[in-house]
Amino acid sequence: MRIYFLLILGIALVFPSCTKETKEQKEPEKILTDEELHAKADSLAKYIIIVDTHIDVPYRLGEKWEDISQRTINGDFDYPRAKRGGLNVAFMSIYVPPKYEGTGKSKEVADNIISLVEDIANKHPDKFALAYSVADVTKQFNAGVISFALGMENGSPVEGKLENLKHFYNKGIRYITLAHSKNNHISDSSYETKKKWNGLSPFGEEVVKEMNRLGIMIDVSHISDSAFYDVINLSGTPIIASHSSCRHFTPGWERNMSDEMIEALAKNGGIIQINLGSSFLNDEIRKKEELNERYIKDYINDNNIVSEEAHELKRDFLKENHPGYANVKDVVAHINHIVKLVGIDYVGLGSDFDGVGDSLPEGLKDVSQYPNLIYELLKAGYSDEDIRKSCSGNLLRVWSAVEQFAKKQ
Ligand SMILES: [Zn+2]
Repeated sequence: MRIYFLLILGIALVFPSCTKETKEQKEPEKILTDEELHAKADSLAKYIIIVDTHIDVPYRLGEKWEDISQRTINGDFDYPRAKRGGLNVAFMSIYVPPKYEGTGKSKEVADNIISLVEDIANKHPDKFALAYSVADVTKQFNAGVISFALGMENGSPVEGKLENLKHFYNKGIRYITLAHSKNNHISDSSYETKKKWNGLSPFGEEVVKEMNRLGIMIDVSHISDSAFYDVINLSGTPIIASHSSCRHFTPGWERNMSDEMIEALAKNGGIIQINLGSSFLNDEIRKKEELNERYIKDYINDNNIVSEEAHELKRDFLKENHPGYANVKDVVAHINHIVKLVGIDYVGLGSDFDGVGDSLPEGLKDVSQYPNLIYELLKAGYSDEDIRKSCSGNLLRVWSAVEQFAKKQ
């Protein structure tokens, strides 16, 4: 209710004439000028909750530390830019690289990354707070504090023990991406040509049920198609794809979701959160990127170039042969496609900010630019309510359903 009130108030402040008109006789709706549309987008970004389900800040800070409570030189996320863009809930990615699978170190790595996020929130309570529930999100939105929610990218830290799921739930993990770029002991990965389990592993099936029981959302981004269908068949709750886009635009690329999968996801009540990486959005860019990667990998192997030199060589080569960028309209095209398939109730945002490098679309380069997307959505004819749903309403609906399911266990 409060959000609605603020939203209406916000629009009324920016467009006082609109409310007056609706109070009097029903005049035909005014067509907004471009300037007015931008103002409305800015206003909406402030008065609705914006949730982004995948931000790789912890990984970035692990590589090179910066104080994100201030404007940082690098990266896509910091407090001033998040405020400017109207971001209210950032799902911090607790990413554990696949190299730790089976080493007995994954859990510790995950715990350390969670501590890093907790430390940032504890140090800046006026700016950030951990969110453990939908109620926390609302409370912290009203208090003007940016929520950090925790999503674990890669199930490897579960380390074959169901009790570790409880451990991570207690630490605040509210979704788990079952696998990353390699098959693991829970699930096959979309990136692997040779699958290990033909879907979920037998232990992975137990993991899904336990996540349902505890109230952790199941994230199907990164996992193979077969694993996705296993999850759909097993899960008692709606599921999420925290950072995936539509395969319709990148035919044959398993990391994005096919139309059939999006339909199955919607039937389950789940959501797909659009990944902003240009190669997720645009097939031409993806193909160029793949060619580049293959070329430089072969070159490094053929010439026996050692790691540090290889790193620099790769960086310079990719800079000189940059595949180009998608733009905000491409993101809207993905949203349109999902809406056409299943409706507005099943789509949201999972940017992958700080996770896809120099590959973000023109106009969506960092967390300050969500209003540009809202502007394009308004221009495409989406209503304020549609925009509220895709910016947060859909995700919060799923999160609530997962909370309710766990309460009944
Ligand atoms: Zn990812």
